[in-house]
Amino acid sequence: MPTVVYVEIVPGMKHFTCERMRATLSVQACADNWRRGHYEGDLSRQPCKGCEIGAMHAGEAGASQSPLLNTRICGRCHRTGMRLIHKHLCVSCYNRQREVLVGKNAKGSSPVKWQALARRTITYQLSDGTVAERTLDRTTDMEELIVGVLRDERKAVRFGWKAPEHVRQLLDGLDGDLESDLAASPTA
Ligand SMILES: [Zn+2]
Repeated sequence: MPTVVYVEIVPGMKHFTCERMRATLSVQACADNWRRGHYEGDLSRQPCKGCEIGAMHAGEAGASQSPLLNTRICGRCHRTGMRLIHKHLCVSCYNRQREVLVGKNAKGSSPVKWQALARRTITYQLSDGTVAERTLDRTTDMEELIVGVLRDERKAVRFGWKAPEHVRQLLDGLDGDLESDLAASPTA
């Protein structure tokens, strides 16, 4: 938690000196600024983006600092500033996927590049320690899920590798060193 020195200028209200905005702000004004700058992309509140004090005042300590947060990035091709279908795919990727599902592209030949659509799940940990999961029915790779989580998840996240059951059973017969190595890696 960041340390902040508060003063009481107006009875019943807490103010503090904000270095980023170069102003004396009430806690409430800071929280409002932070929501607008960090979440809503308000350019006049750009200094608030990624500010831990603002996040704390807004009651969102542990908020995501990802540059992908709330951007309109396509989970599949990673182009930004796109209109997203179902809040995930750009129009182009969505149309390609439909062609795959129908089994042909607009010219009537089989699509080659997009055949490996599969249901995937990613497990990740939020900054408050809870574990969350996201599943998409049709994905081309795990990156698609990671980009989606970084774009949509309000809290900071950590990704890890969850060993499949047969690997975990292996670990039962080993000493602690390998087990802690596996538990610690990899994260992104
Ligand atoms: Zn796309």
